[in-house]
Amino acid sequence: MTYYTDSNQIKELMTQIADVEVNDLNALESLSGVTVYVLDNLFTLGLPETTVRSDSLLMRRPDWGGMILELMKKNEEVYLYWGEWCRVLYRSNLDDFRFIHCSNPIMAADRTCLIATQAITYAMRNAIQDLMEPIRFGQAMTDRLKGQSNDYKVKSLLTFNRGDYKEICLKMEELMSDVMHQRDMWKDRFFFKAVEEDGNKLCSSCKEDMRQAFYVRGDEEAALKWRPGKWGNCPARNCKHYSWESFEEEYHEDYIQDIKIEEFVSSDESD
Ligand SMILES: [Zn+2]
Repeated sequence: MTYYTDSNQIKELMTQIADVEVNDLNALESLSGVTVYVLDNLFTLGLPETTVRSDSLLMRRPDWGGMILELMKKNEEVYLYWGEWCRVLYRSNLDDFRFIHCSNPIMAADRTCLIATQAITYAMRNAIQDLMEPIRFGQAMTDRLKGQSNDYKVKSLLTFNRGDYKEICLKMEELMSDVMHQRDMWKDRFFFKAVEEDGNKLCSSCKEDMRQAFYVRGDEEAALKWRPGKWGNCPARNCKHYSWESFEEEYHEDYIQDIKIEEFVSSDESD
């Protein structure tokens, strides 16, 4: 995304809110194919939908002559903010502009122009902040993630044109799919190694229970905590992989009893 403005105040505000590059309006190469946001107290609040002829608009805002009016004429996505947002539609056959109330616009175009020929008001600052909120939020999220992870893939994926919240979302989606894919590969690795084990080492009940935990029940946390016999499905409780030490938490009373007996027996044997 590329941003252009004719106002130093807007430029300053935008760069304060997020890590974006804001260009001078004069740097705009083509006047069409851009989304235009004009911030101007052109109307008083509560005005119904209205139509203004091109020449009378120019009389009210002489400094719009040339570039700004051209931008408003040549583009379909034009919005005006004067305390509330409205969509601006130019009708070339009548050479007039229609101003139609609209909901808060979303700033998502490849090229965006923010225009203010007057000093911007407090309400206008808030409106710009709202426009930029998805970008600010997305950037804060990518920064947090990059700070938390030294993973090469995370770093490389999150290095891109960050002034585009849609791209940020798509990168996050890519990252999440990748993590899920890796998770599945690890799961398969453990599972297939386990099912190939000799029946004496890991019994068929445990193998089936593992399959249920890993692929059927759909509870990730339970799958992660799965251990042979943990859920009482190992009838003989004598799989080699059946490990007392793997019961990190919530020791079942019966098991603790069993451990105590076993310790007692083994200390007897050593005497
Ligand atoms: Zn078993």
